[in-house]
Amino acid sequence: MSELISRNPANGEELGRAPIYTPEQVRAAVQAARGAQTGWGQASLRQRLQELKRLSRVLVEQADAIARLIAVEQGKNQIEAYGEVMTVLELLHFYQRNAARILRPRSVSPRLGALRSHRIIPRPRGVVGVISPWNYPVTLSMEPLIAALVAGNAVVLKPSEYTSLIGLKIGELARRAELPDGLVQVVTGDASTGQALIAAGIDKLVFTGSVANGRKVAALAGEYLVPLTLELGGKDAAIVLADADLEQAAEGILWGALLNAGQACLAVERIYVEQAVAEAFIQKLTEKAARLRVGPSTDPNHDVCAITTEAQQNILKQQVMEARAKGAQVLLGGDPLPGPGRFFPPTILVNVNDEMSVMREETFGPILPVRVVRDAEEAIRLTNASPYGLTASLWTRDLRRGRQLLTRLEVGDAALNDHGTSSGHAEIGWGGCKASGYGKTRGEEGLREMVIWQHISWPRLGGQLMGFPYSAKKVNLVRTLIKVLFGNWQERLSLFRSRERKG
Ligand code: NAD
Repeated sequence: MSELISRNPANGEELGRAPIYTPEQVRAAVQAARGAQTGWGQASLRQRLQELKRLSRVLVEQADAIARLIAVEQGKNQIEAYGEVMTVLELLHFYQRNAARILRPRSVSPRLGALRSHRIIPRPRGVVGVISPWNYPVTLSMEPLIAALVAGNAVVLKPSEYTSLIGLKIGELARRAELPDGLVQVVTGDASTGQALIAAGIDKLVFTGSVANGRKVAALAGEYLVPLTLELGGKDAAIVLADADLEQAAEGILWGALLNAGQACLAVERIYVEQAVAEAFIQKLTEKAARLRVGPSTDPNHDVCAITTEAQQNILKQQVMEARAKGAQVLLGGDPLPGPGRFFPPTILVNVNDEMSVMREETFGPILPVRVVRDAEEAIRLTNASPYGLTASLWTRDLRRGRQLLTRLEVGDAALNDHGTSSGHAEIGWGGCKASGYGKTRGEEGLREMVIWQHISWPRLGGQLMGFPYSAKKVNLVRTLIKVLFGNWQERLSLFRSRERKG
């Protein structure tokens, strides 16, 4: 197979084709990017930001075309598709105003290095590889791409094999913005293309994808010593306490769970509700979920749109089937809708337990298992027992206690009375912990990761602190220094006395 066929998940229609780049072609793309990076990296930050203003302009002009493409190739509702464009524009806007501060060189005055001046400066890494998934194909490709460019790097993007046309569109946006030739390369393909990119001599990689593939990527990146940012999967929990506003909790959790038909890394995938309000909460949740409209993104009134891949649809069917077999009760949904296209209705499961994969493994679809717990302690214990650590939310009217409980959740992003609240905010770095990955994209942290913080120094007062020839006198000098700088007062006094005696 030398090309990928892109299809609309809502009706199976062919949308276009994209080549699968061979390892040689990937290496050539990395080399071309390296060629373009030299001038880009040497330009001042101000010049680069000036040039990137054209990318913002193009994004605004092309917003309709991009959103339309996302809605047909990935399948999400148009409002969420426009949201992707807006998120990227917001990041560009944030870096226009803040990159100089975030990347500011700083002087350091080490107390043992007073003979020299020292400075820590940001140095572009070189060529940054971006390997992105299909669920937010614009945001998750362009956020690291923009941070890399602002910091003076070139970028080679390997988009998901399921959203290749969007990947190619990103290349087109860079060309429309008249960024230097070769600076942004897009290499379409599958996992083998991603592997080829890691082996092609890149200087950093931002990988967003599943935990299983993240492990393979980390192993390969380890072989080539490619620095990594890993944004991986989650099994995000929502905890509903007995004093929660149940109306607000049901609505907020439903959106947090079913945006992009649940195909969001930060989507709520398990709910823990305190016994006292369990019945009332489950009833509200089920009623509200039953009112959601399922269908293709061509109709902006459809809340829950297509399931992008067949593999994903199979996971949903399999998880529900297994949960049913192990005793779960399906209160709503449970089976895919008949074709054409792939649609799965909002599905609510109760009587679930940790033996079921729907409570343990990533689902990535509109399925909501609800487990009743004794109290907040049990909910927090179960939430933290997961190997994942991406996001979580807690629902309570007691903001003081709630805030305190948030700090006990082992996740990268925890919110009270809302879910996934860092998403879309350019100012806030994004990333999980535990098996959900490491490193940050977006925000200040995401930009700082795109440079090497290089130390440069030059003589100030002349002379050298250390150097040959060694001698007993120099050994004594260091021994004395240890006592002077780190000793207690008796040790310092003894030094003073021995000097007096010698004197
Ligand atoms: P995936 O892991 O199948 O693929 C992601 C990308 O990696 C694709 O471009 C794919 O071609 C490439 N790839 C796969 N195996 C590779 C390998 N061995 N070496 C190099 N490249 C390889 O993920 P997906 O199905 O596209 O996306 C869904 C997953 O991504 C979910 O697990 C989701 O939670 C996760 N995700 C995480 C975040 C986050 O920010 N933490 C955001 C979105 C999605």
